[in-house]
Amino acid sequence: MAEGKVLLEIVTPQGLVFSEEVDEVTATGSEGEFGVLPGHVPFVTTLKIGVLACKKGSESKYFFVNWGYAEVGAEKVMILADSAERSEDIDLDRAMAAKKRAEERLKHAENVDFARAEAAIERAVMRSQVVESRRGK
Ligand code: ATP
Repeated sequence: MAEGKVLLEIVTPQGLVFSEEVDEVTATGSEGEFGVLPGHVPFVTTLKIGVLACKKGSESKYFFVNWGYAEVGAEKVMILADSAERSEDIDLDRAMAAKKRAEERLKHAENVDFARAEAAIERAVMRSQVVESRRGK
């Protein structure tokens, strides 16, 4: 491990999404956003649907993360998520279509699973925010 770096690994059931040494990680924990620099005290937290960002020099990278948990150590941040994508891999049309489907379900169905439909909308909105974070940098 290079001095002053932290290894960020993002893993989903589909496989490894990211594995690189970075300077800093910011993620969305269930208790709120947290930041990790090299040498951080170890902790474990669950994650919400949210954005994860990492910095490497002057470059920032953004990811969409769907639930899961983070295991933080002095030299490593391990993210295990239900699904996760790099911002550049997010298909915005697909996210918007998923949002529309969920909204239609909420509008018309009688036996709709609200929590499931709302989570689908939250994922879609968060995916578009992650795309915007990248464009806005
Ligand atoms: P959809 O209804 O379009 O499948 P979803 O939010 O239910 O959306 P997930 O269960 O989060 O999808 O993910 C299923 C798989 O599809 C994962 O591998 C995830 O990375 C990928 N995926 C889902 N939506 C997108 C998207 N908009 N862009 C890129 N990959 C996506």
